[in-house]
Amino acid sequence: MLVQPRLTVSAPDLGALNWPRSVADATALAGVGRAWRRTKHHLDWINKQQVALCRVPAPTFAERARGEHLSAVFSELGHCPSIDDAGNVVVPLVHSARLPYVAVTAHMDTILAPSAPDDVRVKPDGTITGPGVTDNGAGLATLLGLARLLSDPLVENPERNVLLVANVAEEGEGNLRGIRYLVEDSPYGERIDRYLVVDGASLNHITDAALGSKRFELVIDGPGGHSWNDFGAPHPVHALAGAITRMTRARLPTQPKTTLSVGVVEGGTSVNSIPTSASAKIDVRSVNPAEIRRVQQAVEEAARKAVAAENQNASGGRLGCVLREIGNRPAAPPLPRNPVAECFHAVDFHLQIPSASDCSSTDANVPLAAGIPAAAIGCGGLGGNVHAPSEWYAPKGRDLGLRRLLLGLACLQMRS
Ligand SMILES: [Zn+2]
Repeated sequence: MLVQPRLTVSAPDLGALNWPRSVADATALAGVGRAWRRTKHHLDWINKQQVALCRVPAPTFAERARGEHLSAVFSELGHCPSIDDAGNVVVPLVHSARLPYVAVTAHMDTILAPSAPDDVRVKPDGTITGPGVTDNGAGLATLLGLARLLSDPLVENPERNVLLVANVAEEGEGNLRGIRYLVEDSPYGERIDRYLVVDGASLNHITDAALGSKRFELVIDGPGGHSWNDFGAPHPVHALAGAITRMTRARLPTQPKTTLSVGVVEGGTSVNSIPTSASAKIDVRSVNPAEIRRVQQAVEEAARKAVAAENQNASGGRLGCVLREIGNRPAAPPLPRNPVAECFHAVDFHLQIPSASDCSSTDANVPLAAGIPAAAIGCGGLGGNVHAPSEWYAPKGRDLGLRRLLLGLACLQMRS
């Protein structure tokens, strides 16, 4: 997840929408009081669940084992989980069959996976270390905590059921496939009218705008040959280097912030060969879809020109090049009205959590781009070094994150 701070919304802006009043009403609910009191008794259990689930590897596209592990825990807690066609674990908490759902989602997949259970450890001070422990071990453990705390309802006569979802394929080339299935194809999709995405630790953001991105793979192929005997044959690596140099000269505005990064470069077989192939993976991001299209055109032109230049100078054979889209995350500005974000701003005002709206690339991109109210938040505690083997999560402060989530969820269940 990449965070780009935007403006802070202060509670008075929400007065007309009556959310602060709803939060005050929600804190008085017996169900909320009960869940709040039980929170502290379950913290150890939640931390232990986090270690256990993070020890089950779940790299993007291979989340099945972690999904089955989570399903077993949800079942032990007395719920009825199922695994849908995309591989998402779906747990309905139904008050009445006629009601719509508020979905609380956390992605299961990680950039790095433990190669042995010991790669995920607990230090004497309680800090959990290892790949994926914050992103999104913290969110998944919170989902299990909610499943335990919500065995009794928060709201007696709610306007919404709750759907807990541990979804696949948020990271990298997963391309938000899990949440996309939930929004567009799942039997639940039509009945979910609010999405709350729980991702990472930080309580300081309420992500209600979607940073869009497009990812491409550029592949340049040629006849190849010997570096000495066939010198002069068109060279895929040299052409690729030229293409990257050209595309990184594209104009990238700071407003709206627009970025281009070549994240992976591959090609070649040995130091004394002209390779038959070279490739690069390119990530383009902006809040504004028009900027993404413009940079995409610059990437296409850079590839075409670099390959043409290499072919022109070559003594025999020709290079070919293909630019393939490998990822597309929709951009979305803030919705004119977003009850999920409004609710959490009011909750944070009430709990004195200093949070701000931001624009980021999360599972919330998909519902937001479809015009469905959604926000992504962190779940409390502290975390760092995400996407690195030294990733860590310190549970101190998790209590506040859980209380925040329970209160916000009660409000979203109460109000239309
Ligand atoms: Zn994440």
